[in-house]
Amino acid sequence: MREVKNCIDGQWIEGRNEMIERYNPADKKELIAVVAGSSIHDVDEAVLAAVKAKKTWAQTAAPERGAYLQKVAYLFEQHANELAQLATKEMGKRFAETKGEVYRSAAILRYYAGEGLRKIGEVLPSFDAKNLFFTKRVPVGVVAVIAPWNFPLAIPVWKIAPALVYGNTVVFKPALEASATGARIVELFAEAGLPPGVLNFVVGRGSSIGDAIVEHDGVDAITFTGSNAIGSEIAKKAAARGAKYQLELGGKNPAIVLSDADVDFAARLVVEGAMKQTGQRCTATSRVFVEKEVMDVFRERVIEHVKRIRVGNGMNDQVTMGPVVSKGQFETVQRYIHIGKQEGRLLVGGGASDDIGWYIEPTVFDSVSHHATIAREEIFGPVLSIVEAASIDEAIDMANDSIYGLSASLFTNNLSKALYFIEHIEAGMVQVNGETGGAEPQAPFGGMKQSSSGTREQGQAAMEFFTAYQTISIRP
Ligand code: NAD
Repeated sequence: MREVKNCIDGQWIEGRNEMIERYNPADKKELIAVVAGSSIHDVDEAVLAAVKAKKTWAQTAAPERGAYLQKVAYLFEQHANELAQLATKEMGKRFAETKGEVYRSAAILRYYAGEGLRKIGEVLPSFDAKNLFFTKRVPVGVVAVIAPWNFPLAIPVWKIAPALVYGNTVVFKPALEASATGARIVELFAEAGLPPGVLNFVVGRGSSIGDAIVEHDGVDAITFTGSNAIGSEIAKKAAARGAKYQLELGGKNPAIVLSDADVDFAARLVVEGAMKQTGQRCTATSRVFVEKEVMDVFRERVIEHVKRIRVGNGMNDQVTMGPVVSKGQFETVQRYIHIGKQEGRLLVGGGASDDIGWYIEPTVFDSVSHHATIAREEIFGPVLSIVEAASIDEAIDMANDSIYGLSASLFTNNLSKALYFIEHIEAGMVQVNGETGGAEPQAPFGGMKQSSSGTREQGQAAMEFFTAYQTISIRP
């Protein structure tokens, strides 16, 4: 059991409100963490610490800032098992999944360590031949990192690493469900020697301290990943006081299976895309449009693949799907399964048990209309809807008929159809013969429409959000 405190100006200190108990979603009796319930005064101190540190950190040479990230990457790898175990116990994802996330986080840290050595501006031609005319990227200032629980390691890291390497100081607020993992991340940054005040940490309920972070005048920019409901509130509050903001929000990611595809391969990847991480990925496949010629065989293969899934405690290596994160998520997903039983035909799964932990069977519905609630709303659980399509055009039209546009995939062996899909699909991350999902650390990550506020995370694209432009003119 861990006691999770705030880290302000390098000191671990208790919050001012009551501590909050957190239990293992795979085993509800196991107390994992007691988390500081912070108040707006704790937030204020964390922001002021970041403000105090920002000048010195901005003046620290960028390669030196990158060197800290190198050290943290090394520490992540050294502590891979321990970090993965903590994250699994805290939010339920399988150990193999959290371990993968540790290595992915190390790769992201190394990528951004390298950013400390790359160019941060360009020389421009000028109408005055004597003018030395150039641009320079400068830090934004204090960045608030507000993260969800579903990638408790990689999402904080892919926000904190670019924020730091481009010269900003940070106030990091993890989701309550990922507080202990968040604290461990901050401890490793401290172990790497990061100066006090550069990375501050406040935990607690988003509903108690979220506004205090977003509305604090000391916070220059807010990078948020989470639900559309909270994201749109953050956007309004940040815009009202002219703070920069970046939102990565929900998804309702479609896959399309054409009749010329390798149907068994497509079924396997669609099931993986839907059920991996118990469906709790913003990029999870949650609806699949299948050309009617291959519907029967696709449906059979999906049932076979789903039946192979073993639900249980993610620390057991025989288990292939862990619990959902919390009671709230358990109830939400069950509510959608109930709706699904009225809207479509239950093909496989549908059961749930909360005797030991928050377990839900991988569930697939077919004969679903693309107008159905389960085919339109983000469920964020192990539920897939199969919808029949008459043609690639109908499949793309139905896929695009959504407020979301995060990730989409197509299964085909026809290159022309793949190119046609890429041209017409409304999604920020597009796969052909691959499952819906994100991208490698060097590539931009983000969605279209209501899935994202437009800027991108990861890769050099992150520079757009984490820096400001300075245009400079020097005349002799
Ligand atoms: P959430 O919106 O409930 O919480 C996200 C974060 O916001 C948490 O840290 C929470 O404590 C904080 N928060 C809560 N109330 C707040 C407030 N009033 N002000 C400021 N912050 C507040 O989301 P979640 O349940 O943690 O995550 C699931 C959602 O995140 C899903 O919708 C999923 O699609 C989305 N998500 C998106 C991406 C992406 O990159 N697009 C990645 C992962 C998750």
